[in-house]
Amino acid sequence: MNGLYIHLPFCLKKCLYCDFVSFSDCFSKAPVYIDALICEMQEYRGEKLDTVYFGGGTPTSLPEELLLKLICAVFENFEVKKNAEITVECNPKTAGLSYFKNLKNAGVNRLSIGTQSLNDSELAFLGRVHSAEDAKKCILDAKKAGFENINADLMFGLGIQTKESVLASLDELISLKIPHISCYSLIIEENTPFGKMEREGKLKLMDEDTERDIYLSISKSLIKNGYNHYEISNYAKDGYLSCHNTKYWKRAPYIGLGAASHSFYQNKRFQNPDGICEYIDFVKNKGRRTKEIVSQDDAISEFMFLGLRMLSGISKNEFKKEFGFCLNDIFQKEINELTALNLLEENGDILRLTPRGIDVSNEVFIRFLI
Ligand code: SF4
Repeated sequence: MNGLYIHLPFCLKKCLYCDFVSFSDCFSKAPVYIDALICEMQEYRGEKLDTVYFGGGTPTSLPEELLLKLICAVFENFEVKKNAEITVECNPKTAGLSYFKNLKNAGVNRLSIGTQSLNDSELAFLGRVHSAEDAKKCILDAKKAGFENINADLMFGLGIQTKESVLASLDELISLKIPHISCYSLIIEENTPFGKMEREGKLKLMDEDTERDIYLSISKSLIKNGYNHYEISNYAKDGYLSCHNTKYWKRAPYIGLGAASHSFYQNKRFQNPDGICEYIDFVKNKGRRTKEIVSQDDAISEFMFLGLRMLSGISKNEFKKEFGFCLNDIFQKEINELTALNLLEENGDILRLTPRGIDVSNEVFIRFLI
């Protein structure tokens, strides 16, 4: 069954590290953009969905009526499975109790909240528009509105952070009983204000050893508190793993709608134009996308490096079912070397990263690129 991703590239203000396709000065185009999304849906009308993800940008920075119109259109145009996971990304400061109640009534059952930190200096450093109080209120409002399935993002790696400050934010999220927590290290992207500051030597980042120590402490604390570490950056209580994101790691099909969105559909990968106006014109003029058929070599590499992101690992039987030959036939040398280095472990049908392998996962993944 397909997943559906809808990109809403609107934000109140650009965060200093943000490289996503999102704009803070295009709200006047939002009504036309939503109509273009509904028009693009017609291409896939009747498809069956078991996950829907409204991401961005900040979907909840849109006026409620526009987001609700879009959600209704998804139910009208697709066959959405009963109990499908339907997520909306939101940022504190953009939505409160009444907004959340309306999302809930419209069929949304999961929220992903961009908290990032519960420390005001760190939030200001990142250029976020919200405060720690806003983040906590947002979480409490979401709960009051009846949302149980909530993700909160936590970011680490900022020069001004300490292990204590990161763990203090984490402890607060745990005490707020958030069942899913995503922990990301800050990545400096070239075309961002942080990228410029780094080039000019004006950005202080955390050193690698401290960052690694913090990552290990985060994992330890979350596992101690009953979270399953199920993907390199993601932790969930039983029953709360993200079904939509798991589709990406398992190479399940998904349809992407909106500016800059990607699709993996009928074994082809393709992408929509990036800008809001370009996207609207593209839909209006029924533009054609360049579609890439995924070659077998690419599919094998994706199977390996996406699948190994999940801590449950990959199944050799599933590999054989999908490609018709044994994984060991092509990767025996890599597997031998990586297991000897204690970066991978083989256990019957399963191949997975060791704790040491998680630490240097990119070096492991590179070995499986064909
Ligand atoms: S809220 Fe998210 S998408 Fe928007 S600017 Fe900040 S990081 Fe980027």
